[in-house]
Amino acid sequence: MHELSIAQAIVDVAARHAGGSPVVRVHVRIGRLRQVVPSALAFAFELCTHGTPLDGAALEVEAVPIGAVCRDCAAEGELDGFPLACPACGSLSVDVVRGEELQVESLELTEALMTSGRVSDEH
Ligand SMILES: [Zn+2]
Repeated sequence: MHELSIAQAIVDVAARHAGGSPVVRVHVRIGRLRQVVPSALAFAFELCTHGTPLDGAALEVEAVPIGAVCRDCAAEGELDGFPLACPACGSLSVDVVRGEELQVESLELTEALMTSGRVSDEH
């Protein structure tokens, strides 16, 4: 299962950045070239987070469109998917410049939220 290895990679990176703090939300950017099935990724993420500081965390996925530059007419555009063809002239000779992303953009930690909540309650 392709999504399982992606989910595992997200959990590894997020857990390392969180430094052991409980995580409530993870925001990731995933390029459409990765061909991730959102429901399969959500399921795999739940499996991978079990017993980690990310247990129960929400996964927010931002899909990054495929961007390419045509080698024949130099047009730059967004592609819907395979086959990767230039939207302007139909050439299959394109350089992909975007769409292979797999990045953990941000984390929301329980502790940070609780701290700010207490501070605002006191004032
Ligand atoms: Zn073209």
